[in-house]
Amino acid sequence: MGKIMLTGDRPTGKLHVGHYVGSLKRRVELQNKGDFDDMFVMIADAQALTDNADNPEKVRQNIIEVALDYLACGLNPEKVTLFIQSQIPELCELSFYYMNLVTVSRLQRNPTVKSEIQMRNFEASIPVGFFTYPISQAADITAFKATTVPVGEDQLPMLEQTKEIVRKFNSVYGDTLIEPDILLPENQACLRLPGIDGKAKMSKSLGNCIYLSEEPDEIQKKVFSMFTDPTHIKVSDPGKLEGNTVFTYLDAFCRPEYFAEFLPEYANLQELKDHYTRGGLGDMKVKRFLNHVLQAELEPIRNRRKEYQKDIPYVYEILKKGSEKAEAKAAQTLSEVKAAMKINYFEDAELIQSQTKRFSE
Ligand code: ATP
Ligand code: MG
Repeated sequence: MGKIMLTGDRPTGKLHVGHYVGSLKRRVELQNKGDFDDMFVMIADAQALTDNADNPEKVRQNIIEVALDYLACGLNPEKVTLFIQSQIPELCELSFYYMNLVTVSRLQRNPTVKSEIQMRNFEASIPVGFFTYPISQAADITAFKATTVPVGEDQLPMLEQTKEIVRKFNSVYGDTLIEPDILLPENQACLRLPGIDGKAKMSKSLGNCIYLSEEPDEIQKKVFSMFTDPTHIKVSDPGKLEGNTVFTYLDAFCRPEYFAEFLPEYANLQELKDHYTRGGLGDMKVKRFLNHVLQAELEPIRNRRKEYQKDIPYVYEILKKGSEKAEAKAAQTLSEVKAAMKINYFEDAELIQSQTKRFSE
């Protein structure tokens, strides 16, 4: 069995540095390593509509933003199939059949969906489509026979749900679907990067993001306004690292060589942390360093994005070609699923023959 990757993002805004460390960076590394037989990256517009039904224009506008961010990060359309979810109708059909394999109470237990419902004030009026999106995500993953799904930690419950659906389907209808493995970031800080407010996960919907396409002065402004340790008031005070967003970001983004380049008084991140916890190191100094680090990381991404922005029709063409390729693959899986479920009546010669016999007796 080959190795196949599938992952994606909702076009609810531009992509941010949380996406980058949580999943995007990994995709580019996997692409460049080249040991996958096929790689699919999906812009999940249909999923975005499940909680943006009254704002379809937002979703429509952000498709190109997400595509540009992909290309800017180094995803290569020659090696990775970039496609738009809604253009693959087979995914809806798969979801419809998988719905019969999942109970309402199982969906209600999904911790990510629970917190997202709360965040969106959906408690009293959850759209059915939103409630069932983990099932549609199972369709996305299984349609491509994905073995590997590189995502942030918030996606763990979705992968669990997918595995359950695969097991249930295979046990009822016979071995057809592939159980996928989640690929989480190895770096703890990248599992669920907090927003600049330090409160929750950085999320497009919460407005606490540093976007990949952000201009240098905006990056600096956001870094300087970041949440640190509220008890670290005077420079001489000992500081806490836990919950200190600036240090979490340094854990996520800092490379050893940045010390020589931007902060040569320290040999490495550990020395900087030790000084901070001992006292005598001000927040501004650490923020200035983080600003340098993020500027260095984001500059090449921003510049590449500007190149692709010059030829928007080409970017749509990439998505169109990708969607065609993705649909062919999903159609193949759907036909296997229908055959397993024995709802492929017109291709089932044995069925027609046995019914003929039954009525001729
Ligand atoms: P929305 O608020 O619309 O749900 P989002 O910012 O959560 O948007 P998604 O499109 O839902 O982004 O997530 C895309 C991918 O990025 C997923 O793999 C998710 O796990 C990962 N991801 C999103 N936010 C973070 C984060 N703060 N840290 C690490 N990974 C993240
Ligand atoms: Mg999300």
